[in-house]
Amino acid sequence: MPFDIQKIRKDFPNLAVNVKGQPITYLDNAATTFKPKSVIKAVHEYYTTGTANVHRGLHELSEKATAQFEATRETIKTFINAQKISEIILTKGTTEGINLVMNSFGRAFLKKGDEILVSEMEHHSNIVPWQMLCEEKGCYLKVIPINDNGDLDIEQFHKLLNKRIKLISVVYVSNSLGTVNPIQTIIQEARRFKIPVLIDGAQAVSHFPIDVQALDCDFFVFSGHKLFGPTGVGVLYGKEELLNKMPPYQGGGDMIERVSFEKTTYNILPHKFEAGTPNIASVIGLKPAMEYLQSIGFADIMAHEEKLLAYGTQVLKKIKGLRIIGNARKKVPVFSFDLKGIHAQDIGTLVNEEGVAIRTGHHCTMPVMQHFGLKATSRAALAFYNTKEDIDHLIHALGSVKKIFA
Ligand code: PMP
Repeated sequence: MPFDIQKIRKDFPNLAVNVKGQPITYLDNAATTFKPKSVIKAVHEYYTTGTANVHRGLHELSEKATAQFEATRETIKTFINAQKISEIILTKGTTEGINLVMNSFGRAFLKKGDEILVSEMEHHSNIVPWQMLCEEKGCYLKVIPINDNGDLDIEQFHKLLNKRIKLISVVYVSNSLGTVNPIQTIIQEARRFKIPVLIDGAQAVSHFPIDVQALDCDFFVFSGHKLFGPTGVGVLYGKEELLNKMPPYQGGGDMIERVSFEKTTYNILPHKFEAGTPNIASVIGLKPAMEYLQSIGFADIMAHEEKLLAYGTQVLKKIKGLRIIGNARKKVPVFSFDLKGIHAQDIGTLVNEEGVAIRTGHHCTMPVMQHFGLKATSRAALAFYNTKEDIDHLIHALGSVKKIFA
């Protein structure tokens, strides 16, 4: 499919919604993304003519739902280039994926005195579970610092590496700074110490292709709703060898082979980690989301987003009193900023008056805010369906905010 932005925008009904009497300028894509018609159709069809539970019944609807459910898993495998279908665990999102690894891998294999390495730019969901584990086990959380551009301090990372570290869990793309981290370097270095690496890919998957085999990461997590898919579904990729060694996360239906009061044996991968009825509609709806991206192609998406990043940076920098928070060497089009003397919440409320949707607050990255001496930033996070005109609209709305506060 050629990259025809106007045609693409028509595939997303939510982009036509009016806010304050005009079509929304949606710049909150790091929080969640709009869905193409094919995703909405798949979810709608499951609820109107396809409702059944999966992996259980032999009746026609159940077999169809199971086939669709498993077809999503197959598409995920291709989408992130996993080696095996058994390595694709369906979760309810990034947060659950990290919590699964913490509860299963963390509780089974970490012990007192061990260290877990994260970075200063992690989302709270990649900090708090590890703190909980540290408290329980007597482990230590170590932090790779960031510099004032919003890049990881790789020199410090090298210095922090040691044999006590039993897991490195880092974000690929920062949701509050837009930084794309050099995770290949991190993984390669980790290999020298035989440290498993978890990559939080929540903000990466919508911007560029992922190849878990090329990355050679041990775990990779992401959420469907940030990938133009439904809410309530996510993915944990794990290397089969590692997943096989890990105990189950939750107990219940589907994750067992045989149950008796004397002894229960567990199902094979990936089902061992999928207890209970999953979010079937959302899993089914995730497949067309990935297919939509594949049909456009990441080469065009990246080229378009590169232009948005360059243009957005250029025009935002011209606004007097505006400081962009996050000027990393490699970025996606996410613009966090501070406008001198104006509270982020006021900015968010006022630009909404012109139909512009941005995020304000700490973006679940309080340590990042602390680093920059701020309580909050305003954040415009763009996706491939955004345009230069969207950026112009934001700039215009920010002009209005400045006038009000002048
Ligand atoms: N990590 C990052 C980098 C994120 O941006 C987010 C969502 N803002 C999460 C983790 C958590 O994702 P979810 O809420 O979908 O579980």
